[in-house]
Amino acid sequence: MNPYRSPWLDDELESFRGTVRRFVTDELVPREPAWQQAHRVDAASWRDVGAMGLLLCDVPEAYGGSGGTFAHDCIVFEELAYAGVTSFGKHVHNICAHYVVAYGTDAQKQRWLPGLASGERIGAIAMSEPAAGSDLQGIRTRAVNRGDHYVIDGSKTFISNGQVANLICAVVKTDSGAGAKGISLVMVETDGLAGFRRGRTLDKIGQPGQDTSELFFDECRVPIDSLLGSTEGAGFAQLMEQLPYERTLIALWGVASIERAVRITTEYTRERKAFGKALLEMQNTRFKLAEAKTIAHVGRVFIDSCIERYMAGTLDTATASMAKWWLTDMQCQVIDECLQLFGGYGYMRDYPIAQMYADARVQKIYGGSNEIMKEIIARTL
Ligand SMILES: Cc1cc2nc3c(=O)[nH]c(=O)nc-3n(C[C@H](O)[C@H](O)[C@H](O)COP(=O)(O)OP(=O)(O)OC[C@H]3O[C@@H](n4cnc5c(N)ncnc54)[C@H](O)[C@@H]3O)c2cc1C
Repeated sequence: MNPYRSPWLDDELESFRGTVRRFVTDELVPREPAWQQAHRVDAASWRDVGAMGLLLCDVPEAYGGSGGTFAHDCIVFEELAYAGVTSFGKHVHNICAHYVVAYGTDAQKQRWLPGLASGERIGAIAMSEPAAGSDLQGIRTRAVNRGDHYVIDGSKTFISNGQVANLICAVVKTDSGAGAKGISLVMVETDGLAGFRRGRTLDKIGQPGQDTSELFFDECRVPIDSLLGSTEGAGFAQLMEQLPYERTLIALWGVASIERAVRITTEYTRERKAFGKALLEMQNTRFKLAEAKTIAHVGRVFIDSCIERYMAGTLDTATASMAKWWLTDMQCQVIDECLQLFGGYGYMRDYPIAQMYADARVQKIYGGSNEIMKEIIARTL
């Protein structure tokens, strides 16, 4: 029994968690194997989650959202992580929606948010390219202004929700000679868009149900009012401003995964016997799990502080970067130690710890690699 309660929780949120947990357990957990096999989540499931009001929890009802707060979204992410539902790409969907909320004109919010909330529209964020990941200023995808429309040319890679998204927040160059000031965000509605093509679903070592993909834009014409906000060249600043949101979500997933690893490993070692006693009675097991539980608690307190500060509008980029690198590093470390305590069964896909091990590794890479996080923090020394 852990008497600690996250300070951002209250009774209403606890009751919301109960509803989310039941829905995730009854409706999403049974679909996870099929998603993993198909390497994507089906469109009907997106609509089912939307109908429950779990896609855009913190978006105002006036735009089709659930009118809650970031805390509601955090609970949904936690419950997905606790249940091992790793295929459902809510992260990038929410990130896409957040750009619209933060920078969209009222007309753009009306146009895109209700569909994103209901699951009729599925969002993605397309930054990375074959030759530019960490160094976003090096992207080559162009959007040429032709008066009443843009013509987009280029390609993106590693895009989560790549096979299913029909609203893609694309990072493009609107002025290739202007460095960071030449970068813009363009919202691309892909249904029926000539010249838009989805490449293969990339073959990953983990997260098999996520459709991480290549995307190709070949002279795609999109209406001029697809530019997010009203000024070209604001994209890089918009990205920098919103990255703490993305990093907090990744860090939260890290903490929830650590908590789950401690729970399932404690259960397993309590049952598993060797040399006439439960593994949990052996000092090495007890110490390893004591260390892991300590990390889980330190991580929880840190992420709770980030969540509170995010909601208060005071979470700075360096702190969000600390949370992202440290908590994902800890996630990989703790899951590795826990897997060891499962022995050979820990290496078998039938055991959730094996999947968690493979899924965790990318957390140190995407959302800004952990090395880039340390660069950002180091700038504040
Ligand atoms: C499963 C998955 C899902 C993803 N989803 C998305 C998505 O939805 N949308 C999207 O846009 N992208 C996505 N990405 C891409 C991801 O964000 C990039 O892979 C990441 O930013 C790193 O870029 P890169 O792969 O080009 O590596 P590189 O930038 O080539 O980096 C290679 C290595 O060099 C290090 N490095 C680079 N620069 C520095 C530096 N200045 N100092 C020290 N070390 C440095 C990096 O840390 C890394 O270890 C996803 C990737 C994966 C694997």
